Amino acid sequence: IWGQAREELQKIVGANSFSTWIEPLCLNAVEDGTARITCPTSFLTDWVSRHYSDDILQVLDRLGGPVHRLSFETRAQSARQPAAEAAPAPAAPRSPARQDEELAAPLDSRFTFENFVVGKPNELAHAAARRVAEGGPVTFNPLFLYGGVGLGKTHLMHAIAREIQLRQPEARVLYLSAEQFMYRFVQALRDRTVMDFKELFRTVSVLMVDDVQFIAGKDSTQEEFFHTFNTLVDQGKQIVISADRAPGEIKDMEERIKSRLQCGLVVDLHPTDYELRLGILQSKTDAFRVQYPGLQLAPGVLEFLAHRITSNVRVLEGALQRLFAFASLMGREITLDMTQECLADILRANDRKVSIEEIQRKVAEHYNIRLSDMIGPKRVRTVARPRQIAMYLAKQMTSRSLPEIGRRFGGRDHTTIMHGVKKIEELRSADRSLAEDIDLLRRLLEA
Ligand code: ADP
Ligand code: MG
Repeated sequence: IWGQAREELQKIVGANSFSTWIEPLCLNAVEDGTARITCPTSFLTDWVSRHYSDDILQVLDRLGGPVHRLSFETRAQSARQPAAEAAPAPAAPRSPARQDEELAAPLDSRFTFENFVVGKPNELAHAAARRVAEGGPVTFNPLFLYGGVGLGKTHLMHAIAREIQLRQPEARVLYLSAEQFMYRFVQALRDRTVMDFKELFRTVSVLMVDDVQFIAGKDSTQEEFFHTFNTLVDQGKQIVISADRAPGEIKDMEERIKSRLQCGLVVDLHPTDYELRLGILQSKTDAFRVQYPGLQLAPGVLEFLAHRITSNVRVLEGALQRLFAFASLMGREITLDMTQECLADILRANDRKVSIEEIQRKVAEHYNIRLSDMIGPKRVRTVARPRQIAMYLAKQMTSRSLPEIGRRFGGRDHTTIMHGVKKIEELRSADRSLAEDIDLLRRLLEA
């Protein structure tokens, strides 16, 4: 009954609240009139039980009653999936644009070049996408974009399609996923309309196929794709392809197809770095500020998220979305504390054990000194103090012994480490801003 109940609840609470609060829940069982519900975090449990109990109870009672009581449980440490995946940003209005209506997939209106934040990891892909979108003589064909999940492939593809449409309204741009391509093809086979299918595909001006790895191993679809591809290239039509890996690494894909995919320009989207993540967060925050006017954001929150959520941009967005929704419902400022509580499950999924090297790296980054100075001999305060802070954090956050820590700090003696740790402990209680600094570093590193 949970599927049905979820549908009803979505109608009652609205799509936004639903994806933030109800979607991550699981109905475990109904026994003796008690429905047992699992939440990924204690924070979610708390919130849902206070605000949505009545709605959930009523719906469950009606659909699978009698249900008189709800009992909430927090899912154990081993969260099965990062909740950001379960709580995506609310669906934006889809604009059908002027694509080929019959075949094309709709374009997401948020996926524009304007909304795409450029950084080192994606600048090449972005530049190539821009170039293709600007039209003119076909320079590289196909453009092959690849990269891991959630790094912006689909975003760039939509941006290209939209831009071309704006610049050349008469062009027939066809954007679709490889899965849709296969589906249409199979349908055409079944309906005996393969000729029409071929005709349609071969008369577009620009063909864009997303996630092409999907047709690996699907022989007849591959074959058809290959012919379509060749025909279009021969006619000088632009083709843009995306995949989750480089052409040569797609398994169960015919060699001749792979080599054709490589004959244009192949560019990859690298995993995000800290700066890019921060840039994306800032840009999304600007958008959220319009959606949630008056919300206060404490300093350091975005930096914290950029440090801690490194998996992919989609997760990063989901986290921010949840945070804003929560803060707005609570009418509170977004603080570091709130962030940690509200996003505990996502943060946990991104956690790893902290190593001394990581501590050194983060501290060096934070104080803008060189990593080599962490282990080097310099005694100037601007270097020595951060080094001591790193020693202190290493003592606090790892289970390493003083001699072991000493070894990682360029072979220093254990008494030096002890001295450093003591020094920071003293300063900590006297100097508030240092204490706050250490706190922030700790949170950034925390497991
Ligand atoms: P992929 O297709 O590579 O799996 P998507 O293009 O669907 O990833 O991107 C996932 C989400 O992250 C989308 O909401 C997208 O808008 C966002 N995103 C990814 N990269 C960027 C970027 N550089 N700037 C802004 N948003 C981005
Ligand atoms: Mg995609």
